[in-house]
Amino acid sequence: MACNGEVVMVLETKRNPQVWKHFDLCLMSDSHEMARCKGCGKFMKATTNSTLKKHTDRHCPVTKAAAKKSEGGESSGTGSSKV
Ligand SMILES: [Zn+2]
Repeated sequence: MACNGEVVMVLETKRNPQVWKHFDLCLMSDSHEMARCKGCGKFMKATTNSTLKKHTDRHCPVTKAAAKKSEGGESSGTGSSKV
């Protein structure tokens, strides 16, 4: 697998937490920053949030399933309808 190097360290990011909760921002040995999916471990360019979000929503076998699950199956309690 042609990789850009190895992860030197995982950085903190203050970028969109909705997107980045599924990714680690990794500093690579060639001093590039890459986003690593926490679900499947895939590396992607960290430049565009939309690309990452698309991976989470549509392509990632792990986070896609998790998102779907939390989206539809939120049934806490029985018949408590607040309006
Ligand atoms: Zn993934």
